[in-house]
Amino acid sequence: MRITVLGKSPAWQDADGACSGYLVEGGGQVVLLDCGPGVFAKLRRFVDYVDVDAVVISHLHADHILDLVPYASGLRYAPRQQPVPVGGFPGTDSPARPRLLAPPGALEAFAGLCTASGMSADHIELAFDVTVYDPADRVELGGLTARFQPVPHFLPANAVELAEDGARMTFSSDCAPNEALCEFAAGTDLLLIEATLPRPERDGERGHLTPEEAGEHGAKAGARRLVLTHYSDELDVAWAVEEAGRAFGGPVDAAHEGATYQVGAR
Ligand SMILES: [Zn+2]
Ligand SMILES: [Zn+2]
Repeated sequence: MRITVLGKSPAWQDADGACSGYLVEGGGQVVLLDCGPGVFAKLRRFVDYVDVDAVVISHLHADHILDLVPYASGLRYAPRQQPVPVGGFPGTDSPARPRLLAPPGALEAFAGLCTASGMSADHIELAFDVTVYDPADRVELGGLTARFQPVPHFLPANAVELAEDGARMTFSSDCAPNEALCEFAAGTDLLLIEATLPRPERDGERGHLTPEEAGEHGAKAGARRLVLTHYSDELDVAWAVEEAGRAFGGPVDAAHEGATYQVGAR
């Protein structure tokens, strides 16, 4: 399984960057994990968007879903994608219609997002084969298996695991410190974990991790490899890596656009 970072910015993009988006290739599948602002353009540097088998969404914050709108436009309006697929036409030359696995509440969120931006309410649903997953589900995507774990955040969010033949990558989604992620990620080959905050939130509900907390979660999980993400280019990355590394007790990588990570044999 190969993971390519398309975007690692937090809720606002780095200079020339993109928000949450990771390309995962393995098990005969091309999977896009999250589709935040800027991700569609970055995706096109690496693969043809019609060749993506599935898009998996961790949660419904803007920085994880907004580029579903232009992605849907490409799938519906690109000349090579005509006619517009509705339900597929077996036996004919069907345009690409990737699967879209999205959390509960997604259909309402997508309809609101599309209508508020002048598109039809079903713009995303017409472009993608949408499945609203239950976080308790285990979803087979060709030779990959997707699993989910609810994690505490400002709205319902799910850590996501993609596994191929026992090789596992775990994505934290956005989350406050929590035990559930450590248990879900126990023994994972690669934990891609958010490290958004230079310091814990000053007041109110917690929703994100510091680099030190990201390192602690990696250590508790016994992750073989730890990669920090969802941090701004306004954060001192050397400081973040050092903080996380001390807590993790081993070397830590900081995700950057175009970085690739190999998990498992291939
Ligand atoms: Zn986010
Ligand atoms: Zn979020």
